[in-house]
Amino acid sequence: MESNFTTKDAYLNCFSPRTYLQNYYTFGSSPSQEKQVLMHNLRKLSETFSLGQVKGDLLIDIGTGPTIYQLLSACESFKEIVATDYTDQNREELIRWLKKEPGAFDWSPVVKYVCELEGDREKWAEKEEKLRVRVKQVLKCDVTQSQPLGSASLPQADCLLTTYCLEAACKDLPTYQQALKNLSSLLKPGGFLVLLSVLKSKFYIIGDERFSCLSLTQEEIEAALQKAGFTSEQSEVIPHHYSRAYTDNEGILFLVGRKLNTSVGIQG
Ligand code: SAH
Repeated sequence: MESNFTTKDAYLNCFSPRTYLQNYYTFGSSPSQEKQVLMHNLRKLSETFSLGQVKGDLLIDIGTGPTIYQLLSACESFKEIVATDYTDQNREELIRWLKKEPGAFDWSPVVKYVCELEGDREKWAEKEEKLRVRVKQVLKCDVTQSQPLGSASLPQADCLLTTYCLEAACKDLPTYQQALKNLSSLLKPGGFLVLLSVLKSKFYIIGDERFSCLSLTQEEIEAALQKAGFTSEQSEVIPHHYSRAYTDNEGILFLVGRKLNTSVGIQG
């Protein structure tokens, strides 16, 4: 049934970072579904990382893609951030922004919005610099491998963040389940998992390209997390969806969990 699911090679060959950013992360003055969803996600991330509970030395973002919005509040609470992605072109796009290279995507409207949420819109340039300093590495990652970061040697993280990656990378529920177990090895016992996922989506569009998505419900995600040895401390669905021209999702899940201190995660 899932035999047509987008392959890793298709990600390497067909995922256009620029088109993805233009489609989903244009943050102009006119209202759009995409803008509404992004504002909501930024609010949730800001609440999570500014309340002071989710903080520490190292945060690893899994499947960062070409985006930085998910790191804007996190960079206030973690000393070091490691960004990761499967595709070369996404890591290159990200590095372009980190290094302020010509042609980098302009995130400043998004950064200004996050600074406004955090109390001072005028601090946006400072925040951009802080994030650039805090992102120490951009690594290749494959969530389907038992060692998702290959031979890279990192201490176990205090927090794993993953936004819209697992449902794109995993062709079925067992693969999703296994990916969570793979990721668990990167996290300290008791460490946080912050996850953002579209719900019940079967595809998403970037320009003219169609990418598969694993259709998941809130309950399926929570059950998969539990089986992989995570608790779910906060799990909230909003009914928003992206433009119907882009994807068919029904709601978005924002979840904060923790890796259990026991060894549940390595069984089965
Ligand atoms: N985190 C970003 C990008 C999500 S798009 C955001 O919030 O918008 C999905 C991302 O998953 C892409 O960047 C893609 O390259 C990445 N991806 C796909 N398969 C993967 C795999 N097997 N391992 C790690 N990342 C993968």
